[in-house]
Amino acid sequence: MVKGPAVLREINEKRVLAYIRANGTSSRQELTKNLGLSKNTVSLITEEFIKEGILREVGIDSKGVGRPRMKLDLIPDIYHSVGLHVRDTFCELVVTDYLGSIIESRKLMMNTQNAAQCLKEITLLWPKLESTYSNIIGFGIAIPGLVNPDEGIVISSSHLHWKDVNVIKILEKQIPVPIKVLNRVKAAALSPEKIIPEDADSTFYIRIDEGVGGAFVHNKDVLSGFNYTAGEVGHLVVKHNGPLCTCGQKGCLETLVSIGNVIRRLSEMGANITENDLYSNHFFTIYSFDPNYNEIVKVFKEVGKEVGTAVSTIINLFNPQFIVIDSPYNEMEFFKSATLATIKSKALKYPSERTNTIFASNPLSSPWGMAMSVIHQFEATNFV
Ligand SMILES: [Zn+2]
Repeated sequence: MVKGPAVLREINEKRVLAYIRANGTSSRQELTKNLGLSKNTVSLITEEFIKEGILREVGIDSKGVGRPRMKLDLIPDIYHSVGLHVRDTFCELVVTDYLGSIIESRKLMMNTQNAAQCLKEITLLWPKLESTYSNIIGFGIAIPGLVNPDEGIVISSSHLHWKDVNVIKILEKQIPVPIKVLNRVKAAALSPEKIIPEDADSTFYIRIDEGVGGAFVHNKDVLSGFNYTAGEVGHLVVKHNGPLCTCGQKGCLETLVSIGNVIRRLSEMGANITENDLYSNHFFTIYSFDPNYNEIVKVFKEVGKEVGTAVSTIINLFNPQFIVIDSPYNEMEFFKSATLATIKSKALKYPSERTNTIFASNPLSSPWGMAMSVIHQFEATNFV
């Protein structure tokens, strides 16, 4: 497609913004070299951005060889991004500046089980947000369930009891900025929590809580799949003749390692453990005196093996640079060592030796990831 000069200019402007946001303070020479743009183009764009208050000159870098270079920095609050996570009985709202730092975070009680009412309440948030924050570049909504992000449709959500809800169509009349809708695990996978480096090539993120979900992120883009179900790691079969899953298969990962199922397995061993216990950092200190301690350890070693079996398949199929496991069992050494030992024994040697498996110490934030996703969309240059 032939692109007009105005469109090309806009693409180049977005590239300059994205580069400085990702790399921090940069010089014009660096932008010219790393973005493959002419000196003149970089000069025109940066002058315009300085005039508009998007960039500022922050002093001369005289280190290194060659002429001293004027360093440029973004003004973080020039743009804002909104991320919302719709949960069973409430919503979590996050507002970030353009660098992705959270400047507001709060919990909003609302009836999320009724789609029409919930979306109406979401639209009522807009006037306050608009008057508080300048230049909101988008509004992102994370949903537990199957989402078509291209059209902003929630195909189904068993948690919220929503079916075929066109979120964008309903909200766009009241919220006049780009709206983005994503599955909540895919949104969390984009959360910038410094677990992996900014410039990571690819990550497979596995979230274990009341269910088990996953997301493959490549170059900051989360893979949706043709029918939006890519990443559904919860339905990988990891145990022959295991428990029956809602999908009709036996032995799916979710039927074995989701919180409810782990609590069930522990109670079958005689240990009465609650969800809150599992999220306690002192879980094993508390339970080291339990008469069923050995059985508890055995269950978590099994859970580690099952997660490790699923991760091995992921490594073989996707060959990600990082695997991020986000589960309430991450404080338990038995779980981690069983997971890693299983990966070592089951995944192909060449990729598994080069894949870095990380156990997240806190659950990744879906609303924060959603706000980042809005920023990535704003910077995307494939809009023609
Ligand atoms: Zn299943």
